[in-house]
Amino acid sequence: MEWYQLHPEDVLHHLDTSLDQGLSQTEVTNRQQTHGLNELIEQDRESPWQMLWKQLTATMVLILIVAAVLSGLLGDIKDALAIFAIVIFNAGLGFFQDYQAEQAIAALKKLAVPSVRVRRQNSWQEVGAQSLVPGDIIAIEAGNLVPADCRVVDSASLRIQEASLTGESEPVDKIRDALGNQCPLAERHNMVYMGTAVTYGRGQAVVIDTGMKTELGQIAAAIQTAKPSPTLLQQRLDQFGQQLAIAITILILIIFLIGLLQGENLRFMFLTAVSLGVAAVPEGLPAIVTIALALGAQRMLKHQALIRKLPAVETLGSVTVICSDKTGTLTENRMTVTDLVFADTEITLPTAAIPLTPEHPPHPCVQHLQPHQQSALDVMLTGLALCNDACLELDPEHPDHYRLLGDPTETALLTVSAQLGPWPPQFRQDLPRHQELPFDANRKLMSTVHPFKAMPCLEALAQQAPAPLSSLNLMFTKGALDRLLDLSSHIWSADRIEPLSETKRHEIFQIHDRLAAEGKRILGIALRWLPQSSNGLSPQNLEQDLVLMGLVAMIDPPRPEAKDAVFLCQTAGIRPVMITGDHPITANAIAQQLKISSRPPLTGQDLTQLNEAQLSESVQQVSIYARVSPQHKLAIVRTLQQQGQIVAMTGDGINDAPALKQADIGVAMGITGTDVAKQAADMILLNDDFSTIVAAVREGRVIYDNIRKFIKYTLSGNCGELWVILMAPLVGMPIPLLPLQILWINLLADGLLAIGLSVEPAERNIMRRSPYSPTENLFSRGVGRDIAWIGLWLGCLFLGVGYWGWQLDLAQWQTFIFTTLAFSRIFLVQAIRGEQESFFKMGVLSNKPLLGSVILTTGLQLLVLYNPMFQKIFETQPLSVVELLLCLGVASLGFLAVELQKWGLRQKKR
Ligand code: ADP
Ligand code: MG
Repeated sequence: MEWYQLHPEDVLHHLDTSLDQGLSQTEVTNRQQTHGLNELIEQDRESPWQMLWKQLTATMVLILIVAAVLSGLLGDIKDALAIFAIVIFNAGLGFFQDYQAEQAIAALKKLAVPSVRVRRQNSWQEVGAQSLVPGDIIAIEAGNLVPADCRVVDSASLRIQEASLTGESEPVDKIRDALGNQCPLAERHNMVYMGTAVTYGRGQAVVIDTGMKTELGQIAAAIQTAKPSPTLLQQRLDQFGQQLAIAITILILIIFLIGLLQGENLRFMFLTAVSLGVAAVPEGLPAIVTIALALGAQRMLKHQALIRKLPAVETLGSVTVICSDKTGTLTENRMTVTDLVFADTEITLPTAAIPLTPEHPPHPCVQHLQPHQQSALDVMLTGLALCNDACLELDPEHPDHYRLLGDPTETALLTVSAQLGPWPPQFRQDLPRHQELPFDANRKLMSTVHPFKAMPCLEALAQQAPAPLSSLNLMFTKGALDRLLDLSSHIWSADRIEPLSETKRHEIFQIHDRLAAEGKRILGIALRWLPQSSNGLSPQNLEQDLVLMGLVAMIDPPRPEAKDAVFLCQTAGIRPVMITGDHPITANAIAQQLKISSRPPLTGQDLTQLNEAQLSESVQQVSIYARVSPQHKLAIVRTLQQQGQIVAMTGDGINDAPALKQADIGVAMGITGTDVAKQAADMILLNDDFSTIVAAVREGRVIYDNIRKFIKYTLSGNCGELWVILMAPLVGMPIPLLPLQILWINLLADGLLAIGLSVEPAERNIMRRSPYSPTENLFSRGVGRDIAWIGLWLGCLFLGVGYWGWQLDLAQWQTFIFTTLAFSRIFLVQAIRGEQESFFKMGVLSNKPLLGSVILTTGLQLLVLYNPMFQKIFETQPLSVVELLLCLGVASLGFLAVELQKWGLRQKKR
């Protein structure tokens, strides 16, 4: 027998679990030991050893090792050992960086694990999906990803999209009943599988299989998880690196030949050439990008932005438009009901909190109501509490206190119902939900159907019943007032239900617009009598012919930090765009408070009426979109992208997934977002806050800047080295640097100093300039030019100081060049830190890790100069104080030149 052929009770029995108790904690621990964690294991994850091995077997390193062995065989054991030592150091450093990046990415992945509501120890708990074991009872609802393979034990219109397993994109209805025959996976209508998405309804299920034993796990084991493809920047750097390697190889061949012609010995020239190759080829470039991106993602996490896909870090820096939800992102999503309008009455609630207790005397704000107004209010409050998914229960942590759980809009409505009307937990039990049409972003409505039962709070309603009470169901519908009015034929006015006249409609719209202009969100509530046989009707059939009860206005203040973030966006050349399902007047009021745009909003309805050209035109101008549905989001993203914009788009619902995927940066809400939206997103806002996106964009820009600085620094330094070796023979000098010296400089400069640039803090004007195009050349805007001239200038400096020593026949002329070279790199790194900003303004303390590297490098270089053992290995001569100062002076000329250039650039900009 298969699980789907069993009755739910038998399934529970077999798994030794129960619906109301769930598993005990000890049982969970036991089962975790037998079944392992509920996670898919990535088989091709690199172990630290593999990472180290990769470093040691990189092509350049291998060549170097061969060279060292040859050199050792030819008798120079000392050189061979030193080269080995340096190679190992270098590989160690590379490994350490790789490992750090890997750890950072792994940590991010762990955080992205969705949480699940599970029944354990007789209560509902939120746990990480990886802790599930067979026998766990879980609750699932629209927007969830199914966390394991489960048998459905309760389904309220549960509908699941199983494309990831079956390829079928049409959602499937799920039931709890046993199935008779053997059937293929796609027809097991009482099973739900890991990784599939709940698109509608809710239900409960018992976990059958977890981790690699799930259907998804078996596929994953078969095809293996694909390696993430390299990012755009990495691809471009890879390509560039290859071209550069060819160019450098040719140069080195020339140096090699010149050396031989000059009568240098073959072994020495061979080692020199290989060392130069190792030093000059920036084999670490693509790796540096990974490290910068991974560490950047870690920094973004500190700002509450969780990166799901590493390339996002890179794209963030180029974002030109941020399309954001209103509710919760630009506003606080702390809803408080402020006004109630019903039966020709309007009351404004006090701002002070009203206590939340079962027994309460009528609140002063409703004391003056006439009896007929009071009974209309009671019906409306009952409706608001019944057509509501929030829950009101005793707080386990504070006895005698009640707490509310659920969506902020719904908790606000339930609160006002509990404060002013009958106590909801009581009548909620008496009027159970028979059927429901959940809220969805397209309808913007929610309905629930209840059997009618005479009770005090519904007395006024019972008097108006069209048929015997026992044959009737009662439906409540709440949602966007404009939608509700379209579906209403009657209105509860004064003391009775009457047809909804045009004047009445107009009156209501006026009230609505007045409240909405204060930035309030307005919901309507309506009811309808139904015959008891109405089960199974579709939304179109149910939600019509409604009786409008009244409307509720609530305030949701803008986030205090949002206004600054919007302003920051605008100064940074990024257009903030508000997209909301809320009413245009409400949206506009909030947008004005945040100074998003002075143009009036466009509604979803307006959008549908535009043709492509008009849409394109409007999207360029309009920054507020209201009453939109998720499809409109997709259309807006597409249109913006066609105009060459780089778009970040937020979303929280299931239907937002296509827009999130389409956007250059899909941003899901961490708190209110569904698993489906999170899975489709590149980034998750852990605090749902708009300013987090802006902070992440800023971080993205910093990272891009720093990668460019890294390239500029390494390549210009390497260029200087190549120039001096190329030019020396032209003035008749022998090869001015020894192989070991070349490798040493490479270790210090590229290994220790350049890394410091990856933690360089933001330039001061980073959010005061327009975004760069993501397709721009890495060497554009002066980087290529700078590399060329700095390299040449450094080359001349080294040659000058060396030539002078060589002419005077000083034994230490090579040490001059070596020392100047080393110090010039230390100086240069400080100048290149600022793209235009002066070093003297930034100060040496603004990048402390780099300062540490500088001190360490200086110490190491002095050691090599003055420690007798190192002197022997590196063949250096001790320098006198004057000579050392001379080297330092010449080395600082590189730094000064760059500072002078930056000064010039700053003058020009003024
Ligand atoms: P936003 O796009 O700003 O996040 P929502 O999608 O949350 O806005 O809400 C859009 C509209 O849907 C609201 O203006 C309201 O009329 C309606 N609405 C929101 N939440 C509910 C709910 N729980 N029940 C019924 N209607 C709702
Ligand atoms: Mg929303």
